[in-house]
Amino acid sequence: MKITDHIQKSEGKTLFSFEILPPLKGQNIQSIFENIDPLMDFKPPFIDVTYHREEYDYHELPNGFLEKRVTRKRPGTVGICAAVQNRYGVDAVPHILCGGFTKEDTENFLIDLGFLGIDNVVALRGDAVKSETYFRPEKNGHVYAEELVKQIVAMNQGKYLDDNLKNSAQTDFCIGVAGYPEKHMEAPSFESDLHFLKKKIKNGAHYIVTQMFFDNKKFFEFEAKCRAAGIEVPIIPGLKPLATKKQLNLIPHRFKVDLPDDLVMEVVKCKDDKAVRQVGIEWCVAQSKELVQKAAPVLHFYSMGKSDNIAAVAREIF
Ligand code: FAD
Repeated sequence: MKITDHIQKSEGKTLFSFEILPPLKGQNIQSIFENIDPLMDFKPPFIDVTYHREEYDYHELPNGFLEKRVTRKRPGTVGICAAVQNRYGVDAVPHILCGGFTKEDTENFLIDLGFLGIDNVVALRGDAVKSETYFRPEKNGHVYAEELVKQIVAMNQGKYLDDNLKNSAQTDFCIGVAGYPEKHMEAPSFESDLHFLKKKIKNGAHYIVTQMFFDNKKFFEFEAKCRAAGIEVPIIPGLKPLATKKQLNLIPHRFKVDLPDDLVMEVVKCKDDKAVRQVGIEWCVAQSKELVQKAAPVLHFYSMGKSDNIAAVAREIF
């Protein structure tokens, strides 16, 4: 079932959902199930599964030269989606990237999803490869997510890359896209980022999921600006309970979001990460309560591989 249908069916009641990462290559799927199992008590109608593009590793050869190897450290997005749908009977939402994909790769990926009965995707550009500064598309790949959205919409209309295909089946994907309450890191201004977010919706995306934020005011301002710009699709807030002292620096660095001073001060006072975890849970509970009160359609939690703190938040809310 489509995410937008889940939202419509809930008739204004805020839903619970979360995002998982495929395990590192070589690990089995059991660790994923162990993280999902405790969260099933809160009846998520859907679970997102991230996609991880290739990385470059450099290996020293006996002659002293370096050999560049391309590797994907977290493969398995599609397999995990299929396993999640099969085991839990909830919708799995794979993320799909421009990065590392030609248009042909994208088409084949979407065909696989269609065959598996997966009818939701989150369409993203992806970041630059870790060792590079700027995003580089594949030759014959998409440069921006808005182009990827167009390709998915075309397939929903039965239009594939090969114009000669006759009577091709229409796919039926509900398409989510990313939104940034604190602006995407590369955008020259908030207004320009909003302009391109609107383009993703105009091209046919059905809903927005936001980057994590720790200050609800930023989300409400973002939502108001989206509405003022004529964006009418559901906007799903993304949340993450802070869990370690290290994240005080890591999260702003990696996700380009600010942490409110009150939260920072509480964390600084903590004597260990167990105490930080508790502060993170309480902060996230307060954020969640206000978002539910203001009728957020879904609270979407970033699990980053650990679910106990998300379960602790969900217990207070759902
Ligand atoms: P876009 O919407 O393409 O925007 C990228 C930048 O280009 C923005 O600054 C935008 O303002 C600008 N822009 C957009 N269109 C145009 C245009 N036509 N002309 C000029 N400028 C334009 N990454 C992963 O690798 N795997 C994941 O699974 C994953 N999941 C995510 C889930 C969510 C909810 C979010 C918020 C992010 C996720 N990311 C993931 C990270 C994401 O890939 C990065 O933030 C990436 O840098 C931008 O992706 P995007 O889809 O927002 O890009």
